[in-house]
Amino acid sequence: MNKEKKAVAVPGEQLGVEEEYMPGAGVYLEDGKLYSSTVGTLDIDTKNRRIGIRAGNIVAIPEVGDIVEGVVISPLKEDSAMIKIIAIRGKKNLTGTFTGILHVSQAAKSYVNTIYDVLNLSDRILAKVVTSWTPYQLSTADDDLGVIYATCTKCGEELVLKRGRLFCNRDKIFERKKVSRLYLLREE
Ligand SMILES: [Zn+2]
Repeated sequence: MNKEKKAVAVPGEQLGVEEEYMPGAGVYLEDGKLYSSTVGTLDIDTKNRRIGIRAGNIVAIPEVGDIVEGVVISPLKEDSAMIKIIAIRGKKNLTGTFTGILHVSQAAKSYVNTIYDVLNLSDRILAKVVTSWTPYQLSTADDDLGVIYATCTKCGEELVLKRGRLFCNRDKIFERKKVSRLYLLREE
């Protein structure tokens, strides 16, 4: 394998042979071959000819079934929204930029007319990853999923969850969205 280009190792992956390197942290030797015992980025010390794995610097990528947190970014179309994925639940150190697409048919359990009935630009959402290729297809149909933070499209005030719907205290209006059960601001 090409050690220079491969930055991430997974458990059991062969990293080289003992003639090339000494095993460092997270690496074990078996039958003259070096294997990774953990997930992490390769740490190659060429001077001391030692290869190790830096487990604290795991590169996380979205996978099918992952719950991701994202922000609705431009452009927004009638039937779908582009989501910038900013974090994955249970995974650390998301590196790189990942984009997801939420199609209106995946937005709620019931029929939704346009994507604007579900969310709007710069809303923060929780979504489930449903495809393994990029841009990742997302779903917000489950009760825990959907908008978790949003501001009023008229005045910019933070919307609060009031009797199951999002409310602007300044304009005294409700906004229609697919709200997550985990919405961050609530008023009973
Ligand atoms: Zn408002």
